[in-house]
Amino acid sequence: MVATLDAPLGAHLAPGGSCGLAQAVRLSAVRLLDGRLVAFKPAAVIRCEVAAAVAGWLREDLAPAIAALGSQVTAVTVAASYDCRPRNRVSGARMSEHGLGNALDVGGFELADARVMKVEKGGLPPSLRAAMKDSACRRFTTVLGPGSDGYHEDHIHVDLAQRRMGFRLCRWNLDAGTVVARKDKPKPKDTAPAPAPASGSAPGDPATDAEPDGAGGKADGK
Ligand SMILES: [Zn+2]
Repeated sequence: MVATLDAPLGAHLAPGGSCGLAQAVRLSAVRLLDGRLVAFKPAAVIRCEVAAAVAGWLREDLAPAIAALGSQVTAVTVAASYDCRPRNRVSGARMSEHGLGNALDVGGFELADARVMKVEKGGLPPSLRAAMKDSACRRFTTVLGPGSDGYHEDHIHVDLAQRRMGFRLCRWNLDAGTVVARKDKPKPKDTAPAPAPASGSAPGDPATDAEPDGAGGKADGK
């Protein structure tokens, strides 16, 4: 893992409470078991425990699943990491797990053969989608993806939120968005895709974390 320790990020007051993390890690790359480096673009600012979990996920699950597609992963697209904001960006809402450095949003992957795979519009091959969901839901306590709530159509949110009774969330409809899986084709306007998660949830909508106990979020900075 190639990571540097950031200065404490801290305790800015957000509408929903305080955010920040005492020991922030800036994760810029993970070294795979074969020695190759996989970059995080941009580097993710997260808690050390989350960085370790993400590194293990990439090394042991994601890299092999991508290798099975005939290439090698070279980069992970980071859609969001640390972000001091309340859930749903609603004033008074609880702090998002992003505001605690506890969450990472993955937008996709870059491969050695120049392929770029994106979560949006069913852009991940089915085998990778299935392996990614299965492994994420084993490693993280919250996983939100396409089809979960209308706000995670273009990224996968994972976090290590602690909940009462060890409750976990694993919500990702693997078929969501696959109707437009081929990006070289225009969007079919007259064919109804799988059940739309929510109206008005086009990419670029304001971030919301509709999940009551989860802490997802729309990719920030978009
Ligand atoms: Zn998120």
